[in-house]
Amino acid sequence: MKKILVAGAGGFIAGHLVKRLINQGHAVRAVDIKPLNKWYQVSEQADNLVLDLRLRENCHNTVNGQHEVFNLAADMGGMGFIENNKAACMISVLINTHLLIASRDCGIDRFFYASSACVYNGDKQTDPNNPGLKESDAYPALAEDGYGWEKLFSERMCRHFREDFGLATRIARFHNVYGPYGTYDGGREKAPAAICRKVIEASVTGKKEIVIWGDGHQTRSFMYIDDCIKGIIDIMYSDILEPLNLGSSEMVSINQLVDIVEDIACYKLARTYDLQAPKGVRGRNSDNALIKKYLGWEPSIPLKEGMKKTYDWIKVQIEQDRRSEKHANKFNI
Ligand code: NAD
Repeated sequence: MKKILVAGAGGFIAGHLVKRLINQGHAVRAVDIKPLNKWYQVSEQADNLVLDLRLRENCHNTVNGQHEVFNLAADMGGMGFIENNKAACMISVLINTHLLIASRDCGIDRFFYASSACVYNGDKQTDPNNPGLKESDAYPALAEDGYGWEKLFSERMCRHFREDFGLATRIARFHNVYGPYGTYDGGREKAPAAICRKVIEASVTGKKEIVIWGDGHQTRSFMYIDDCIKGIIDIMYSDILEPLNLGSSEMVSINQLVDIVEDIACYKLARTYDLQAPKGVRGRNSDNALIKKYLGWEPSIPLKEGMKKTYDWIKVQIEQDRRSEKHANKFNI
């Protein structure tokens, strides 16, 4: 049993990670800046703390006494958030910097950093038939403005803390992750959750139209959360020193993603395309040659299967939201 700090534990991916680590028998300290009642999942067996990890002192105090650190804390969201909050995204550099310093000073055994496919050079993502981004495609650097540059810089810092201070750092570049217990409204949600929400709301209200950001031909791959958690743990305890892609290679267009959700919902909608909305790069996919070579595995949960579970979870949330709104209206709360 190890003592493990999970940063960003009130968020989507880290909430699942905390559960997995507890199931494996570890003593987990779960930290997030959000008040506890806003965490997607709260594991009662964890030591749950509400702290701002941009502050060096908070990082030191919470890392002290732990064996390992997983850093998944960041001020982030889907394209709608990162295109309009570049400075806020870059301030997350304070979280990783102070966690690295604390980990060095407190003698942490291993440190995991959650990077992103947004580190990749934009010039390699102009074709919707993207053959897959290789790890080497991050350089020469032309990362996603704001969010992507912060990730690339923090990756680099992890590397130099390993080289100069001997801190065992591991890095995964996540490609879009989706699943239950994540953001589905409020402006930070990503495409899979946003499309599920729009289709569910339309089917509940009888609306016949869906608005899609961009022309719908832009492509992405989406990784189900269970694959992501397995990949995080396998990469953390591997000997792989360089950043590794952690993503699905099942690339689809946004139109195909909408088709999948409509099939799940058994509800067809007329599509309107908002060409002014944030849409990100034209084509992005994960090249999984390296992860297959090093770990003998790649994320493989089919998109249709993962989207069904995600859709069902979001539907329940929306039904609950609607009931509590009705409740609030009835009692004038
Ligand atoms: P999330 O927003 O659900 O979780 C991030 C958590 O970090 C949030 O709960 C947030 O409150 C917390 N946080 C932010 N600032 C903090 C601070 N100052 N101190 C403490 N906690 C703070 O996001 P997620 O989807 O779970 O992503 C987790 C990590 O994976 C992030 O680093 C993200 O950049 C990275 N990532 C995610 C995806 C994806 O598709 N979800 C893709 C690429 C990379």
